[in-house]
Amino acid sequence: MKIGVLALQGDFIEHQQMLEGIGVQVIQVRLPAHLQKLDGLIIPGGESTTIGKLAVDFDLLEPLRQFGRERGIWGTCAGAIFLSKDIHRQQPLLQLMDITVSRNAFGRQVDSFEITLNVPALARVGDTSPFRAVFIRAPLIDAVQEGAEVIASLPNGRIVAARQGKLLATSFHPELTGDDRFHRFFMEMLK
Ligand code: GLN
Repeated sequence: MKIGVLALQGDFIEHQQMLEGIGVQVIQVRLPAHLQKLDGLIIPGGESTTIGKLAVDFDLLEPLRQFGRERGIWGTCAGAIFLSKDIHRQQPLLQLMDITVSRNAFGRQVDSFEITLNVPALARVGDTSPFRAVFIRAPLIDAVQEGAEVIASLPNGRIVAARQGKLLATSFHPELTGDDRFHRFFMEMLK
């Protein structure tokens, strides 16, 4: 497997380290040509407005959309925002996933938090023990439309992870924990 990490802005190095830790070859993607021969792509957390603006400047928007129609993409936090169809405001989006997202849904940076989540889908990688999820000025997934499914919710029922075919969106940051189950789960999704 060869996986790209979109390396325009945000915590792509942490994703790269996590992937290399599970034996996956990683390519940093900054130009459309870097997408060739990849099996999947991770769009990291960071600032979705900045990632979107840079994707426009580097002529990546359409190549990324094309990539996501055929191959897998996982977006964490800002990456999840960038994957979504609608965020109730104007900024560049890939609009690949049928999910509606609210940015900064928990408030400001100081309102960041950690919580353990139940993620039954992690049965796919053989371990459904609680997942410690890190939320940093995170978005919420308001709704998943037809075609997309909920993967994880907070205790209050709000959605924080969704999947649609080979596309995965998480509001939180598995790359910032020592737990590689979501990275292994994404690899399984691509098979
Ligand atoms: N608040 C950021 C945004 O709206 C996302 C934060 C993150 O990726 N940790 O794009």
